[in-house]
This record gives sequence, structure tokens and C-alpha cells, in this order.
Amino acid sequence: MKKESTTPSRGYCPDCKKSFDYHKHGDTCPFCGKKIPETIDQEIRTPLVQSLHREANRIGDKRDGAMSFLVLGAIFLIVGIIFVSLSYKPISATNTTKAIRFDSLEFVISLLGIVIGGASFLYGLVRAILFTRKIRVLHHDIAYINSKMRLDPGPTPLLVSEVYSNLSLRLKNYLLIKKVERENKSAAKGKEGKE
Ligand SMILES: [Zn+2]
Repeated sequence: MKKESTTPSRGYCPDCKKSFDYHKHGDTCPFCGKKIPETIDQEIRTPLVQSLHREANRIGDKRDGAMSFLVLGAIFLIVGIIFVSLSYKPISATNTTKAIRFDSLEFVISLLGIVIGGASFLYGLVRAILFTRKIRVLHHDIAYINSKMRLDPGPTPLLVSEVYSNLSLRLKNYLLIKKVERENKSAAKGKEGKE
């Protein structure tokens, strides 16, 4: 199963179901030493795909956790920002000019909200992106293994490139439909003219 460096290099071991780099390790699993077959049958595919589905579900739970951090962080941030505006107060009893009062309780709360909220939001965001990426890779690999009956799915296309190719395909189809419609119209007009 050794290939040139332009071909996908990541694949799965049918035995321990771990993924590894074919280029670095050849066609032998670095974890259990099993030789990787070129193509697979149902007996290898079913348990492997099941295990990948379980892994995707497990990471899905982790992503849900990350989303909670993200949402809680956003709420804390909003509270923090509200309290910044509340800490705008007259400088003193005699001077009504408003300024942020760093010694006020409101300012302390806003600081806490922004620091805790910001940290929680960023932590959740990074982990949510990371886990989403992992789930996409797993789903891509499952689809590849199911359709090709092979163990070397290679790299998963990035979400942006997938969205781009999807949109450009839609645009292409749209333009094609419009072109056919125009041609049909002009053909119908031509007929009318003859009659
Ligand atoms: Zn293995």
C-alpha cells in the first residue's frame, strides 16, 4: 500500500482501529504491527465504522461541553459590558462629570465578568472548533471507508474549501439552467415567427 507522496497518507489499522501516517510507517500499523490490506471486506469494515461512529459521538459530547463554556462565557461578557456602563458615575458629590469609577463595585463586577467571560468564551470557542474539525474528519473517513472499501481516507478537505466548491457548483448549475431556459425561449420564439 505504499504510495507516492501526492496520494493520501493517513489511514486506519483494521485491528486496533487507530489512524496513522502511511508514509512514515509504511503499510504496517505502528501500534499493533498489523499489515494493512489494500482493500477490505464487510468483516473489517463494520466494526471499524462502528468504532469511528462511537468516537464521533464521544467527541460530540465534548463539543457540547465546549459550547456550554462558549454560551456561559458570552453571558458573562455581556454582564461585564453592562456593568462597565454602570460604573460610569459622577466623579464626586459636587462634581457631576461622569467617569468610570475604578473604586466602585460595578467596576469590579464588570472586570470579573469580562475576564471570566472572555476566558470561558475563548476556551469554549477553541475547543468547539477543534472538536467540530475532528468530527468532520471522522465523518469524512466513515463515508470514504463505506464507499471505497479502503482504509486510506487521506486528508479531509477544509470546511471553507468544501463550502467554496459547493457554492461554485451551485452557481455553475444555476447558470446552466438559465442558459437552457434562454435557449428554449429563443427556440420557441423562432417557432412562433415561422408559424
Ligand atoms: Zn493497529
